[in-house]
Amino acid sequence: MSEFFSVAPDDGADLATVQGLLSRVRSVPELAERYDAIDTLHSLDDLIKVPLMVKNDLNVALEHLKPKADDATTWTFQSGGSTGSPKLGYAPTGLYMAEVYERWKPLGPDDIFVNGWSAGKMWGGHYLFNALADLSRCTGIGLGAIATSEYDAWLEFFRVRGVTALGGTPSVLRLIFAHARDTGAELPGLRTVMWLGEAWDRALDEDIPAVAPQARRWGLYGSTETWVVGTNTPDCADNTWHTLPSQLVHIGEGEMLDFTSLKPRGLNPVLRYQTGDAGRWVSCTCGHPTQALQVLGRRDGVVKFRGFLLNVDDLVVELTGKPGVSRAQAVITNFEEKGSSLDVLVLASREAGPGLAEGLRAHILGSAFGLSTVFNHDPEAFEVRIVDALISNDRTGKTSNLVQRQA
Ligand SMILES: [Zn+2]
Repeated sequence: MSEFFSVAPDDGADLATVQGLLSRVRSVPELAERYDAIDTLHSLDDLIKVPLMVKNDLNVALEHLKPKADDATTWTFQSGGSTGSPKLGYAPTGLYMAEVYERWKPLGPDDIFVNGWSAGKMWGGHYLFNALADLSRCTGIGLGAIATSEYDAWLEFFRVRGVTALGGTPSVLRLIFAHARDTGAELPGLRTVMWLGEAWDRALDEDIPAVAPQARRWGLYGSTETWVVGTNTPDCADNTWHTLPSQLVHIGEGEMLDFTSLKPRGLNPVLRYQTGDAGRWVSCTCGHPTQALQVLGRRDGVVKFRGFLLNVDDLVVELTGKPGVSRAQAVITNFEEKGSSLDVLVLASREAGPGLAEGLRAHILGSAFGLSTVFNHDPEAFEVRIVDALISNDRTGKTSNLVQRQA
């Protein structure tokens, strides 16, 4: 089987699309040299000879190409801001959602859908789900971002209106459902919870049934650059995705994923673009016969901290498995004069006991993360704090494992 996988049958059109991508990126002066040595591609397997696009390459290409949709508005979106420098992406009106809707139907005409992705500031989630709502002909409610103080009033509004579907980033959904559960609010009519933008938060598996016993989760996976890569249903594992026909997926060294766009008139020249996520092929628990993509998360969670390579993602995963911990986040603050400090912020779960922060601090210093040597002479530069809320991105509502800031 080919190393480059798409669920679409290869009828030759895909090869023409990919050759078109290659000539587009070759026309970018800053990138031309990298692609010069590539001959004509005779099959999709020849893509193995094409260099990976990483981080800024796509931005450089877009800056030169300035793509325009043929017969629609060209919308510009921004990604990043949570884990790196901002990157741009382009999409035509409709946001390529017809292809998604053909294969993924969490909404129907009878649904009353609350769009809880924050709107504006060039983040695509809100608009993408509006495009899906248009196709499904449901009734839509544009909620956007709301503050904790507004939760009670909105939850009551949802109940009275008979809301059947709610979508947002897991960070936002988590706050809403935890609040509803704590206050005894119920959404008996809610059938569908949709998410996109982050990995699923498994605390939701406990909170959602307490609030909305009928509700099940439906997810989309992708990025601003690749757009939607895959979909899943309540019968699939939460980290496993059925890829769209327009996505050509390759798993390279270190299980790193790269994506090539097979959209015939796609605006972003996505040609072996590496997003930073790792993954592997699996058979999905839903029983669908075609191989599905299990996403293993980012592999770029290592930061240099006081000369020590700290794997933030490992640290967060390790802490999140501890009793009493619902979610954790590392905050590195760089001071001009005294070096960097590390704060580990922890959202406690219901079973948290007293002394949680002290226990976690001792665990981190005593475990293989190697931090005890780093803080030997300066123990006050490392703190574990129990907080009411982690630091999230104002624009997208996403909560990343690592926040870095200047004092
Ligand atoms: Zn599945």
